[in-house]
Amino acid sequence: ALAVPDKQVESVCPYCGVGCQLTYNVKDNHILFVEGRDGPANHARLCVKGRYGFDYAHHPHRLTVPLIRRPEAKKTGDFVMDPAHVMDIFREASWEEALALAGGKLKQIRDTKGKKALAGFGSAKGSNEEAYLFQKLVRVGFGSNNVDHCTRLCHASSVTALLEGIGSGAVSNPVMDVTKAEVVIVIGANPTVNHPVAATWIKNAIENGTKLVVMDPRKSDLARMAHRYLQFKPDTDVALLNAMMHVIVHENLVDKDFIDSRTIGYAELEKNVAGYSPELMAPICGIDADTIRDVARLYATSKGSMILWGMGVSQHVHGTDNARCLIALALMTGQIGKPGSGLHPLRGQNNVQGASDAGLIPMMYPDYQRVDNAAARARFEQAWQLPADTLDPQPGLTVVEIMHAIKRGEINGMYIMGENPAMSDPDVNHARESLAALDHLVVQDIFLTETAYLADVILPASAFPEKTGSFTNTDRLVQMGRQAIDPPGQAKQDLWIIQQMAQQLGLDWQYPNVGAVFDEMRHTMPNIVGITWERLEREHAVTYPCRKEGDAGESVVFTKEFPRETGRARFVPADIIPADERPDADYPMVLITGRQLEHWHTGSMTRRAAVLDAIEPDPVALVHPLDLAALGGQPGDIITITSRRGEVSLYARADDSSPQGAVFVPFCYYEAAINKLTNAALDPYGKIPEFKYCAIKVVLG
Ligand code: SF4
Repeated sequence: ALAVPDKQVESVCPYCGVGCQLTYNVKDNHILFVEGRDGPANHARLCVKGRYGFDYAHHPHRLTVPLIRRPEAKKTGDFVMDPAHVMDIFREASWEEALALAGGKLKQIRDTKGKKALAGFGSAKGSNEEAYLFQKLVRVGFGSNNVDHCTRLCHASSVTALLEGIGSGAVSNPVMDVTKAEVVIVIGANPTVNHPVAATWIKNAIENGTKLVVMDPRKSDLARMAHRYLQFKPDTDVALLNAMMHVIVHENLVDKDFIDSRTIGYAELEKNVAGYSPELMAPICGIDADTIRDVARLYATSKGSMILWGMGVSQHVHGTDNARCLIALALMTGQIGKPGSGLHPLRGQNNVQGASDAGLIPMMYPDYQRVDNAAARARFEQAWQLPADTLDPQPGLTVVEIMHAIKRGEINGMYIMGENPAMSDPDVNHARESLAALDHLVVQDIFLTETAYLADVILPASAFPEKTGSFTNTDRLVQMGRQAIDPPGQAKQDLWIIQQMAQQLGLDWQYPNVGAVFDEMRHTMPNIVGITWERLEREHAVTYPCRKEGDAGESVVFTKEFPRETGRARFVPADIIPADERPDADYPMVLITGRQLEHWHTGSMTRRAAVLDAIEPDPVALVHPLDLAALGGQPGDIITITSRRGEVSLYARADDSSPQGAVFVPFCYYEAAINKLTNAALDPYGKIPEFKYCAIKVVLG
C-alpha cells in the first residue's frame, strides 16, 4: 500500500515553461507522489513529466560529496562516460578544500590572465535568485559580462526580435488567452510534447469553437486537430509569412488605425512584402497560394488572433527574421494589445523567462538593461555598492562564442552551474574539446553530467524540491517553489555555493536567506519591483509587470503603448536567408532535433525518473515510413546518422509526422548524443545555433 505522507509542500513543476503548480507529498524526507494544484497556469492539471518526474531527486547517482579531478586523469573531448571508473578520475574532497581550489584557481586566472579569461554558464533550471546571484558573481567577481545560459539555445532570436520590435522580450498574453481567441496560430511548436498542459488549453479552446491553424514541417499531434494545417518545407518560414503579409496588404486587411497610431516603419514593411506574392512563394514553401490566402484572411479578420511559437521558429540562422515576421503580422492587423490576441513564444525550461529577466545573459543586466548603457551601469554600480566605472561596459560572449574563445585560448576558466553544454551545445564534439581544453572548469550540479565529467572540481548541488526560490513561467507569472526535502549527503543549496564561490573571489557576500536575494533583485528590476517576497509566500504567484507594491500585475500587456522610447512598436522587414548547410549529394537528408514528451532537455533528470525512463528507455530517430522503406529498414532497426561533424547510431521509429527527407531526433540521449551532428552556425542577431536544420545521410545498421 502507498505510504501516507507526513507533509505536503506546495511548489512548482521543475520542467517546462508552463509552470504548473503542484504538491509534493513527502514522508521521511522522501517524495511519495505529486499532485496538481489549482495554479493560474494549470488549474490542477499536470502532464506525465510533472506527475511522474520527481524521483530523480532520490536517484543513487546523486552527487553527495565534492569531487576533485586526480592530476593523472587527463581531459579529452572524445570521452566515453564510464560510471564504474569515476573514482579513477575524481577523488572525494571536503567542501573547504573543493571551494578553495574551485574559487582560488578562478581568481588566479582572473588575476594573471585578465577578467575576460573567465566565463560562467548559469541555468534556467535554477531559481530567479540563483540566476541573479550567479550573473552578479560573474560581473562583479570575474569582472566581465561573459555569462549566459540555455536561452541562447532556445529563444534568444525571439527575444532579440521582440525587444527590437515591441520593446519587451516576454509574451504579450498568457497561454490561457487561447480560450478567448477566435483564431490561434501555432507555428514551429509542438505543445502536446513540450508544453503538454498548455496544449490541453488549446484543445479545450478548439472544442469551444476557436479555429486552430498549425504551421509546421512536422505534423504534430495538434495538427491533427487543426482547422488548417500548413506543412511547409523546412527552412521556409520567411517565405510563407511574408506571403501571408503580402495578401493582407494586397487585400487591404490591415488595421490602419493601429498602424498609424501605434507603430513605425510600416512603409518599409509594405514595400518589402510586395515582392512575396503567394504565387511566387508557393513553390518555395510548398503551400499553395489559395491556402496562404485563406489563412492570411482568417488571421487578419478575426476578432482575436493569437500566435504561439516555439523552437521550430527560433532555432535557425534566420530565427530572428522568422520572429520579426510574426511580430509584423500581429502589428499590421492590430492583433495584439487585447485579450485573446497577441504573441506568445512558448518558453522551454521552467525558468528560462526568469533567468533571462534576472540578467543571466551577456548583453544585459536584470530587466534587460543594457551593459553598454552608461546610465544602466551606473545604476547597478550603485545598487551593488561598487565604485564608479567598475563594471565592464562591453557585452560578453554568448554560449557558442565562449566555446570558440576557449579554443582560441582566450578563455581559460569556467564556472558552470546546472547546465550541460557537453550535451546541449551544437557540434558537441567541438564543445567537449573546448571544455576539455580549459585550464580550470568548476561544475555545480546534482549528477555527474557529461559536462561534469570534464570538470576539475565538482560541487554537489541541490535538486529542485530541495530548495526554495521563485520561478517565472512563460506567462510572466512569478511563482514560489518551496523546499520539500533536504539535499542528500553533503550536497548543498546552490545559493550557499554561489556565495562561497564569491567569497573565494574576494567578495564578502552573506545574504541571510533567499528572500533577501529576491529583495535586492526586485529593486534593480522595475518590472517586478512591486512583488514582495512576503506577497509571493502568501499568494504563491504574481504576474509582472508589477511596478508598485499592491498592484495586481498585468497579464495582457501593450494595451495602450509599447515599452519602447516612442511608445510605438516597430516593423522590421525580413528577407529569405537559406539554412547554413543545405542537403547535397553526400548528405541528402535533413536533421531536425528537439524533445520528446517523457524526457527533458539533456535527460539528466528525466532519464533518472523511473516511470519516464520506463516509457522511453532507448534513443530513437523518427523517420518517415517511406524513407525507412527506401533504406530497406523496419521500425526498430538500428540506423546510423552522419553529418559533416559526427555520427550516432540509434533505433529507427517509423513516424509520418516527420516529412519525407527529414529525420527527427531528441537530444536527451547521451548514448546517441545527436548534437554531435548539429551545426553551430549562428543567427547573426540572437546568436542562436541552427539546431533545426543540417544536412545528414542515413544508413541501415
Ligand atoms: Fe510540468 Fe510543463 Fe508538464 Fe506542467 S506541462 S506538468 S509545467 S512539464
